[in-house]
Amino acid sequence: MAADGAGMASELTRLTAAEIAAAVAAGDVSAVEVAQAHLDRIVAVEPDVRAFLHVAGIGALAAAEDVDRKRAAGEPLGPLAGVPLALKDVMTTTDMPTTCGSKILEGWRPPYDATVTRRLRDAGVVILGKTNMDEFAMGSSTENSAYGPSHNPWDLTRIPGGSSGGSSAAVAAYEAPLGVGTDTGGSIRQPAAVCGIVGMKPTYGGSSRYGLVAFASSLDTPGPLARTVLDAALLHEVMSGHDPRDSTSVDAPIPPVVAAARHAGVSGLRVGVVTEFSGGGSQSGVRARFTEAVELLESLGAKVVEVSCPHFSYALPAYYLIAPSECSSNLARFDAMRYGLRAGDDGTRSADEVMSLTREAGFGAEVKRRIMLGTYALSSGYYDAYYGKAQQVRTLITRDFDAAFEQVDVLVSPTTPTTAFPIGERADDPMAMYLADLFTIPSDLAGNAAISVPCGLAPEDGLPVGLQIMAPALADDRCYRVAAAVEAALQERWGGPLLAQARELGEQAGDGR
Ligand code: GLN
Repeated sequence: MAADGAGMASELTRLTAAEIAAAVAAGDVSAVEVAQAHLDRIVAVEPDVRAFLHVAGIGALAAAEDVDRKRAAGEPLGPLAGVPLALKDVMTTTDMPTTCGSKILEGWRPPYDATVTRRLRDAGVVILGKTNMDEFAMGSSTENSAYGPSHNPWDLTRIPGGSSGGSSAAVAAYEAPLGVGTDTGGSIRQPAAVCGIVGMKPTYGGSSRYGLVAFASSLDTPGPLARTVLDAALLHEVMSGHDPRDSTSVDAPIPPVVAAARHAGVSGLRVGVVTEFSGGGSQSGVRARFTEAVELLESLGAKVVEVSCPHFSYALPAYYLIAPSECSSNLARFDAMRYGLRAGDDGTRSADEVMSLTREAGFGAEVKRRIMLGTYALSSGYYDAYYGKAQQVRTLITRDFDAAFEQVDVLVSPTTPTTAFPIGERADDPMAMYLADLFTIPSDLAGNAAISVPCGLAPEDGLPVGLQIMAPALADDRCYRVAAAVEAALQERWGGPLLAQARELGEQAGDGR
């Protein structure tokens, strides 16, 4: 370690969550020192990265002090005690604002903690603050945030992905070793892929939606973001599991994700390459890295076959009927009476007028587009033709997965068709933006597990590419097992983690200021 304090502090931000938890438990470093190092890093890089909407310095140091006090008293420590984390601003927190990236929730203080928030606190995780996101998680770039976009630490002129782009950028920029995101159509895996980190969408119902502000309730799934597969698994185990407060929570044990991340090995594993997602349409460098990753799996002893999932091509249109329909219903609760913003209430207007002025002023363009689309798709006379049809397509996609998983143990594809695109490039083209989730949406519609793990840099732009590994519902451990094998083999080839072997991120994002 460097002799001076600043150097040592910056080295603390380079540690993995597993390393920090072990060092804190052993008393090699205090949780307060770890938290302070990350808060310093946030101060240094936030002017460039803009990952956070709210930094909770005092709360984070208090949580860290609590961990240090428990350790000193010989009390048992949670598995991630003293590990800092960036929490997506869609999870309710009693001690911090929750805006969902929207003006309509400005000033709202939730009266309760989300189950995920509570479990993090119980495990001794130090929540550093709330991260930026596309408004109500609708988007793929954070450009739909009412508070401006976050920036990709690899290239500050590019998007960090979305909607969990703030959490992903924070983890990639070493502002936190762990982040929480939510995935409805790809919002954990897509930003993880374009930021060069690991992102896991657990099986639907595997992690609680209680206190996750709803976008599309049949799809929304909280999950972990981290720089290593093991760290993602450790967070997965802490944040998920059955919750009686969520009616769709799965009452089953958490799959053995940490064991799978520790005991990687794909010998004899049957890997299916999704025909529909491996051909043209993707950036050439993405295809090249994907092909290499598949060859790598084969060289590690996996049996690779091609598997056709013919209905995956209809996943995007089905999603853009189902998700907006659910959103139009869920977002009806923002009525100017119960939460946040109230516009035009000057004593002369009716409740209806105030509601409509508030929704006009408080929601951004994409949210309004979705509400209108969903209201239309659910309206009488159109319900069967749009929403009903989309639900039928959803069943066909689930059947494609069922048939595929009779032949193979996991399916693989690139996570995204392209690397991070420039900020502004797709902002006025919703269709181009929607295409960022082309490969991630099927797993959301079917409710099964899927992970994105870095598989290299695209030669044409030097930006990260993600490999997506999809497994059946409740077989989340398979995603970790394969991802850990890919990670280990590639790190051997690269001589370290992708983030560290790439250009010195710090130079881009404010180090040495
Ligand atoms: N980008 C997709 C959308 O805009 C997915 C978002 C998400 O997973 N929350 O709906």
